[in-house]
Parts: sequence; structure tokens; C-alpha cells
Amino acid sequence: MSCFGGKMHSYKFLSIDRFDGNNLDSSAYFLSHCHTDHMVGLDKHEFASKLKNHNLVKVYMSEVTKILLLSDPKYLHLKPHICVLPIEQPKIVKIFEGKTIHEVTITLFSAGHCPGSVMFLFEGNDGTCLYTGDFRLPKGSATRMKHLHSGSSKKLIHHLYVDTTFCIPDANFIPEREICLQKLINLVKNWISKGKNHIVRLNLSAKYGYEYLYQALYETFNTKIYCARAGNYKCLPDVAEVLTTDPTHSQIYACFKKERVKEKDWSQWEATNDEIVPNKQLKFLSVTLSTLYFTHAALPKDVQIRISETSFRLCFSFHSSLSEVCDFVRHVQPLSVHANVIPRVGESFSSVEQRLRNLCGLKNHEKINSADEMKEALMMRFSFHQSGDSKPDIFWRLICSSLKSFISSCATMFYVLSKFPETHV
Ligand SMILES: [Zn+2]
Repeated sequence: MSCFGGKMHSYKFLSIDRFDGNNLDSSAYFLSHCHTDHMVGLDKHEFASKLKNHNLVKVYMSEVTKILLLSDPKYLHLKPHICVLPIEQPKIVKIFEGKTIHEVTITLFSAGHCPGSVMFLFEGNDGTCLYTGDFRLPKGSATRMKHLHSGSSKKLIHHLYVDTTFCIPDANFIPEREICLQKLINLVKNWISKGKNHIVRLNLSAKYGYEYLYQALYETFNTKIYCARAGNYKCLPDVAEVLTTDPTHSQIYACFKKERVKEKDWSQWEATNDEIVPNKQLKFLSVTLSTLYFTHAALPKDVQIRISETSFRLCFSFHSSLSEVCDFVRHVQPLSVHANVIPRVGESFSSVEQRLRNLCGLKNHEKINSADEMKEALMMRFSFHQSGDSKPDIFWRLICSSLKSFISSCATMFYVLSKFPETHV
């Protein structure tokens, strides 16, 4: 559950994934994906008024997020204010804050969390900041993100805001989704092969994020998945075509919390199948997809746990494990790392951030809130290198950064001298 307040330590004129409170004074908004904890205030009257009264204020998101958002009628009024940004194509966005125009280069990266989910990279006068939103990416992904690099070297990231949902030692390892999918396929195969009255019920929680499972199950069993919310996917034909709202056409049901298949649906089921099966003969296998259960009660190798003859828990995560997050952070090597999520009761942002810094070998400085603190952090990096503990690339990034500043100062000096030869600089 995201606890990010909406504002970063720089670029304070924009807000990400929060649309209420002091975020209402922002001049641009960014939505990383369509999960409710990232949409706080988005449907509120105050935010609608803000947009109505400031027609240069836009809400930026990916194409798929826009489609999913507008599939819900309560967000249709946002349509004129939405700007779609492409994935992995840096765009210069002009943000109007009163009479000031900020030019910020923004790059979106796929976050692998749910359809349309992205990370945002901000580059401009306020430094370079990366906001991951929620993400699930395999190890090594950061090395392949072209726009986190300049040529062969990494960009210097001043602030990283990272998904810390599973940044707890218990969640160091979460099986990859392919492994979980294979377990699910085996469970479904064994159950539905017993007869047409055998139905697998998948117990789900989040609004989006299971589409990959729906598509894989459809391809494996050549049967549509019953989902009462199939209408949400009208604008995503690849997903819509594998779903049905008719339970009589499926032996695999995707059901959300507290969702029950209505009584009349059962009678339909009886009437339209070849063999007439009384309700009481329907045999359900319940499969609950969860992650937290596995971080507390299971051994690292466990992917599925049998609760009873007809009930299983299956490990499935939209969020990266602790080791996957560390792999990402280690590669990015930000000057300052910030947690977006407090992963468990009794934790604080600072304790999670300290854990990340320790595990990722980041220098142990406090959060950077000002330009002076940023300078200090850079100096710490430099002294870190001198002590022989740092990786060589950090040294070269600092040298390149200093060279750029030097060349820029020389250019300014030559310009001034050529314009005003009498000036003593
Ligand atoms: Zn999410």
C-alpha cells in the first residue's frame, strides 16, 4: 500500500500518484497505474475544480493507463486533461507554474506490475529523479533500461523513490511469476479433468494485475475465464477476448473479494450444459493468490500450500522481492533513496531506507533536501572513492559531471568576454 505523499524533494511543482491535500497546488500530475492507493483524490470534486480552473495543468500517464482509467465512468471528466506519454521515449514537457515555465524531460519505463504501469524519470534543472511506482521486474532489468544510461555509463540519479512493499527480510525471495503460473496450471488441470461440474475459483484482490494469468490459462485450456468484471477490459481486446461474463461457459472463475456468483447464474449453468448437474454437485477448488502468507508462513521454496482437500494458497506477487529491489537499487546507485511503502507494522520510512542503504552499499547519509546537501552527498561519494571502497563508475560519473560544469563555465565566460570585452571577469 503506497504511502508516498505525492511530492518529491525536488520538482515540487508536480505531484505523482496523489491528487489531494497540498498536492492540489501542483502544476502537473502523474499517474503511474490504476490501483486505488495511487489514485487518492483523483475522483474528488476538489481535483476536478483544480483542472477546470487551470487549463494548462495536465495529468500524464501511459496509453494503457488512460484506457483503463476512462473505462470507469467516474473518471470520464478527466479526459480533456490527460496527456499520454510514450514508453522509453524521453519527452520534454513544459510545466506552467504561474509565470514560470519549467522544462522537464520525462521518460516512462514499463514497471511490470499491472497493465499500463510505469516508472517516471524526471530530468531538468532540479536534478535527475526516478519514481518507480509499484513494480515487479526480474533481476538485471535496470541494466537494460537504456535511458538510465548515457552511452556506456549510468546517469547520476539524485533521488530514487522506490516500491518497498516487500523490503523485509522474510520476502528476500519471491518465486518468479512463470513458476507460480505453472503451479496454477497444474492445479487447474488436475481439478477440471475430474468432470464438467468441477470448477476452479481464483480468489483475487487487486483490480488489475492478473491479466497475464487469464491469458495463459486461456491459451492452455482453450476456455474463456469467467470474470464478472470483464467489462473493464472492453478497451483492451487482447484481454477481453479471453474473458466471459457467462459462468456457464467456463470451469475457471476469477472472483474478487466477497464476490459471489449469483443464484440465477447457477440455474443458467444447469440449463445450458450437456449434462444436467444439480447445484449441490458442483465441486469447487478454491485457489487464493497471495504473497504475504508466503512471507510469514511458508518456506522460501514453497510456491503453493494445501490448506484442505479443496483449498490452496498460491504465491503470486505484483511487487518485487527484497532481493529484486536491491538488485535494482544497486544498479541505479542513487545519491538518495526514499521508500514509497512501509512494508509492515512497526517499521518507519527511515528504517526501511536504512535497510536498503545497508543492503545496497549506499553511503549512509540522511535524506537530501537541498542543493547544499546534494553537494555534500557528492563529496561523500568522492571521499568514498578515495578510500578505495567505491566502484570506478561512480568516479567517472563524477569526473564527467565536473567536466560538464567546467565546460559550461568556460562557455559562459567566453560569451561574456565576446559580448563585453571591457568587462573584468
Ligand atoms: Zn499497484
